[in-house]
Amino acid sequence: MYGTRVKTLQDSISEKKLDAFAIIPSPTMFYLTGLSFHLMERPVVAIFQPTEQPILLLPNLELAKAESTPIDFKFLVYGEDEESRTRAFESASGALGHVQLRIGIEPLRMRAFELDLLKTALPESTFVPASEVITKLRIIKDEGEIEAMRSAVSIAESAMNNTLPLIRNGMTEQELAAELVVQLLRSGSESEVPFSPIVASGPNSALPHAVPSERMLQEGDLLVIDWGARVEGYISDLTRTFAIGEIEEELAQIYHVVKAANAAGTNAIRPGISCSEIDQAARSEITAAGFGKYFIHRTGHGIGLESHEGPYIREDNLELLLPGMTFTVEPGIYLPNKGGVRIEDNVVTTQDGGVSLSTFTRELQTIS
Ligand code: ZN
Ligand code: ZN
Repeated sequence: MYGTRVKTLQDSISEKKLDAFAIIPSPTMFYLTGLSFHLMERPVVAIFQPTEQPILLLPNLELAKAESTPIDFKFLVYGEDEESRTRAFESASGALGHVQLRIGIEPLRMRAFELDLLKTALPESTFVPASEVITKLRIIKDEGEIEAMRSAVSIAESAMNNTLPLIRNGMTEQELAAELVVQLLRSGSESEVPFSPIVASGPNSALPHAVPSERMLQEGDLLVIDWGARVEGYISDLTRTFAIGEIEEELAQIYHVVKAANAAGTNAIRPGISCSEIDQAARSEITAAGFGKYFIHRTGHGIGLESHEGPYIREDNLELLLPGMTFTVEPGIYLPNKGGVRIEDNVVTTQDGGVSLSTFTRELQTIS
């Protein structure tokens, strides 16, 4: 599998008229090689060329781990001293032929640190942003990837089912977030959960990216919880909104509008439709109900090894959906100082439509 991915990447490198593609530890490195390293002061750089043997430059202490990859790398290792690190970069330059090369990088990932070391070792070469070399591969998920995401969704749902009975009036958002993280780990999420859960109650629920606070849950609150699990590197990213006791009529109304928008977005999914049309399908429900100006973000984002990847479900994105694309549908309405509602599902584009990986109820649940 990794071998096929690297081969496809190599074809993509030549198609884009690049001589090489250089990456540091990132979801892309994991996708291509199965290897993950912590980013630190000891650089790790992988360099792929259209036909040559790929290079992995890394510190000695990571070699044993690196050898577990099925990719046939030429390993260039260095010790704790700067001189041996410089020599490793020079060897990389030698292996690349010391010539003027156009080397693609991922601008959102490559650090100034590794880029400077590469530029010093390859002064004749130019480094160009080339995310598209890899994004077009990663954006289409295979069965194995979808299966991992399905597990990540089901772990997140069981963590929520275990957390709900523990929610009490008077509990703080932080206490609830901590409990949810424990339940995510107990339900089988990898220890690196994809993001810290958002737990936002009352007026805080009107902030899409609220950070859990010391605020205590109160009767009449809307409670937005945005959470996810990770399996084999793949993530889930769900949101549900609950009512604490009895809520105002207007809050119940926006709940039902968002629920309809979520359904409209999901129902619109099929290959060949644009991301923009999915956004419009969800957004038009909210606009028609008179809450358009309170839906202050895009309808969704791609999901896979990251929660920020394509396809972006935005009004201005004319990219067409293809089978295997996975993304979130997460419309919301946020009434300042009153409360907000978001309902987020994870969906996969199939040959003839779209399927939600999440099955957690979208009916308004009241916690008393
Ligand atoms: Zn989310
Ligand atoms: Zn999301």
